[in-house]
Amino acid sequence: MTGLKMGVSEKARKILWVQAGGFCAICKQQVLTPGTASDDPSVFGEEAHIVARSDGGPRAGGLGEDLINHHSNLILLCSKDHKRVDDQPNHFTVERLRRIKSEHEAWVRSISDVDKDPLRLVPDPQFPQPKVLKLITRGNPLWNMIKESLAFEYALPDQLCDDDEDLIIEFLDLIRDCLDIARELDGVRENRDAEKGIQQYISRLAERDFLVGAYVRHLLLTGGSAERPTPWPMLRVEVQPATLAEVTDERGDPYPRQTGA
Ligand SMILES: [Zn+2]
Repeated sequence: MTGLKMGVSEKARKILWVQAGGFCAICKQQVLTPGTASDDPSVFGEEAHIVARSDGGPRAGGLGEDLINHHSNLILLCSKDHKRVDDQPNHFTVERLRRIKSEHEAWVRSISDVDKDPLRLVPDPQFPQPKVLKLITRGNPLWNMIKESLAFEYALPDQLCDDDEDLIIEFLDLIRDCLDIARELDGVRENRDAEKGIQQYISRLAERDFLVGAYVRHLLLTGGSAERPTPWPMLRVEVQPATLAEVTDERGDPYPRQTGA
């Protein structure tokens, strides 16, 4: 009868749970108890059929097997309300359950700000936005940018030979790894080692006539349920062939192209 998971696809269940917001459609309780230190939260949400599967069950009949287990024929209920719905089929008719479901899903959409106010990144007006990449010739300035950043974007040239491409990708992967750990590294030696690791790649890239440019854009993550925007500094790193690079020195002046190039 109702509540059986057999026959309901994983996809249908996911759609149901997301559209129901994890709340019972009747009592609006979250169908999850808090966990404890040693136990996982307990789930008491049940996927109830609106039109039941068997002829003998409450609200039975009329739907083919495909539609019976379709997410549109399921309603998320707490175990208590599921029992009530099955025990009181005269009150909880198919029509009533369909209305409860659609009103519930509209309510979930109304409380989830994401629909109305999608998450987005916008420039932080408190900071000037960088227009040009800063030339990075040493590990230390890039490491400092990594430490102040939360997110990472990059660009690398097209049409590289395999060796160059491998080296650049290794370098970019190193930066991504650094970003994950940078804020936890306190020790002077750990920081020095990280700088040196970056420095080695910058030197190896320079030997192959690649320049590294970087800047940090100060963005704000806004929207969603957050009351105020979250600072979201975004590190941009580009590796460019020295002959084509448009980078500046530390004063922001254009970096001179290689003599003779
Ligand atoms: Zn309930």
